[in-house]
Amino acid sequence: MTGYFSKTALLPDGWADDVLITTDGEGWIIDVKTGQSADGAIALNGPVLPGMPNLHSHAFQRAMAGLAERATGDKDSFWTWRDVMYGFMAQIGPEEMEAIAAQLYVEMLKAGFTAVGEFHYVHHKPDGTAYDDPALLSHHIIGAAKKTGIGMTHMPALYAHGGFGGAAPHEEQKRFVNSTEGLLDIIRAINAAYKDDPQIRVGLVLHSLRAVTPEMIKSAVQSVHRDDPDMPVHIHIAEQTKEVDDCMTWSGKRPVEWLLENAAVDERWCLIHATHMTDQETENLAKTGAVAGLCPTTEANLGDGLFNLSHYLKHGGRLGVGSDSHISVSVIEELRTLEYGQRLLRQERALVKTKDTPSVGATLYNLALQGGAQAMGRPIGSLAPGQRADLIVLDSETPALISKEKDILLDTMIFAGNVNPVKDVIVGGRHVVKNFKHEKEAEIYDAYKKTIRKLSSIIKMH
Ligand SMILES: [Zn+2]
Repeated sequence: MTGYFSKTALLPDGWADDVLITTDGEGWIIDVKTGQSADGAIALNGPVLPGMPNLHSHAFQRAMAGLAERATGDKDSFWTWRDVMYGFMAQIGPEEMEAIAAQLYVEMLKAGFTAVGEFHYVHHKPDGTAYDDPALLSHHIIGAAKKTGIGMTHMPALYAHGGFGGAAPHEEQKRFVNSTEGLLDIIRAINAAYKDDPQIRVGLVLHSLRAVTPEMIKSAVQSVHRDDPDMPVHIHIAEQTKEVDDCMTWSGKRPVEWLLENAAVDERWCLIHATHMTDQETENLAKTGAVAGLCPTTEANLGDGLFNLSHYLKHGGRLGVGSDSHISVSVIEELRTLEYGQRLLRQERALVKTKDTPSVGATLYNLALQGGAQAMGRPIGSLAPGQRADLIVLDSETPALISKEKDILLDTMIFAGNVNPVKDVIVGGRHVVKNFKHEKEAEIYDAYKKTIRKLSSIIKMH
């Protein structure tokens, strides 16, 4: 057993003083008491928060961040960005995948993300044929998580088509393509390999309504829930207006509208980029209890649009954040961009709030913790018995945070900070970041640097 003591910590009921968190040898919290002394415990020297889940990641894209910030014609868009991504991805094999993911996860941990939802759609060799082990790239991604200590919900993506209505996949998409049965085999293989590991959870991804047919959605979801009734299901849903238009042409319905009418969406589901929704769709999604997976910095970077946030919150909608393309890897920037997008849209302030919590910072942080934990399908996101011991310690000497306490501390951290205040990070009881340094950052950085140098010929192309 290990005891961690903090003078102040954010617990499920709010801020508490003189908190003693006791963990067992497997990284579970077994007790949380307030009004305690530090005797015999490890003193955490700063305010303690639950670590934030990052619910949406395509790890390899971290290494191409910055390569698509140039004009290529009259009108650049998500679709021209995607062409750059496809070109970059063609050079990535298992070792590159793992080296990039490990560097990314170190950056996430140092930023205060303690769990990641890996939406994993690159399965095959660059020529489109399967590796001898079809789950090879999944194992490398999970290997990076294990090396760094970040918790993971690993979600292999079902991807079969290049557009609505079962259109044939494009040449660049052949690394993604599996039959339903082939994808379920990958899920079963990684489930078997990691079923006793409390840091790893397996989930199902349906890449998008563009990439799978209604029959595939039905059979994949039914099949995974037969074996594991709580398995998370994630899908990219309405990121681009073109996607909405194409869905209308195909089905006469908008993407979220179609999904809610044709799939039993519930608390196990997470809809990534539910950006383009009518008020009716927004209200209907909120009622399902599913999580809206928002990726504010990527959605801004790709010019996607803004989520219908106020209407969603009015109807009790749940949300979490992800760094998706990793143009930014920052809890603070995701939460800040989420609120700022809405301020610019509505020309008002303090839009993410509830009746009980006027603090925008505290509301953002708590919503993203709860929604992120739900979308990960893991016992994380709060400092309470039965949860994984995932926590971060802030440096109260960070200039912006001096003398800031409780909710004001969260408001200041999110809106006034450009200096990372995350000093220590403990994940599943493993103290991976100490005094701003990750335990393996030098060796992981070295491998990353070698990988990027190897890829530099492609990088120079752009
Ligand atoms: Zn995505």
